[in-house]
Amino acid sequence: MNSIYALNRSELNQFFQSHGHSALFTDFVFDEIYKNFENKNNDLNLLSQKAKQQIVENFDFNLPKIKQAHESSDGTVKFLIEFEDGASVETVLIPFFKKYTVCLSTQVGCAMNCQFCYTATQGLQRNLKANEIIGQYLIAWLYLKEKRSNHSIKPNVVFMGQGEPLHNFEELKKALQIMTDTKALELGPRQITLSTVGFLPGLERWKELPSINLALSLHSPFEEERKSLIPLNAKYPLKEVLAKLDTLPLKKRQYITLEYLLLKDFNDSEAHAEELSKVLPKEKVIFNIIPFNPWPVT
Ligand code: SF4
Repeated sequence: MNSIYALNRSELNQFFQSHGHSALFTDFVFDEIYKNFENKNNDLNLLSQKAKQQIVENFDFNLPKIKQAHESSDGTVKFLIEFEDGASVETVLIPFFKKYTVCLSTQVGCAMNCQFCYTATQGLQRNLKANEIIGQYLIAWLYLKEKRSNHSIKPNVVFMGQGEPLHNFEELKKALQIMTDTKALELGPRQITLSTVGFLPGLERWKELPSINLALSLHSPFEEERKSLIPLNAKYPLKEVLAKLDTLPLKKRQYITLEYLLLKDFNDSEAHAEELSKVLPKEKVIFNIIPFNPWPVT
């Protein structure tokens, strides 16, 4: 059976139209699904018996399971989320002032093989479906509602978990449509940030996505050195990626974040600073220096 959370509004509308309902009816049901997602038996009380039956015979309302939840003293919560086939990913709730941000995964494992990343050691196992991406969000939000009721407003989103989001473009796109739909999760595009290592085929399709924020894992201004950290740089060199970023439409006061993992005696020299000043765009970017987060083998 299909998950109800796998459908964007136009797909749900196709289903309902084929069962004799109008687009207005779709809007109503779509709204109810997301307003009532925490009701595990989502009984859509306001619908006729016949309409309810059409839904429950074709769709389930299952969410993924929390296999583990680890709370840190700073309020961060790390979840290990398990899907129906037993595959699992990490999802993280991060406190930020009075709000939370949820860091979502888009793939089980990852194909990009970045040398500083633990997920890379798993290789790519599979892409997540849109409902599995939405499911992580709903689970994390539900956790806030239940355990931190004073912080239960909808969390923001960063796609910085397992996987290269643009390498799973179709499912990512659908998940973003659901997140930003005013009849579904109703997040503003600016509440969502996607981080990429520079997967150019996805950046070529950037205009198909809502006007969300973009972050690029930069880590070095030198092609060879960046390639040693991010092997994808061999196929899509930094120069081409930066040229592409330059063409992306940005809204007023919208910036592209350039993430720089600072590695002692590797990418922290004056030569790096000089080169960065030469190759980086002079405006519309924010430079974000991040500390290295060691994992078991390092
Ligand atoms: S793209 Fe992201 S998840 Fe994949 S290996 Fe690189 S840093 Fe890790």
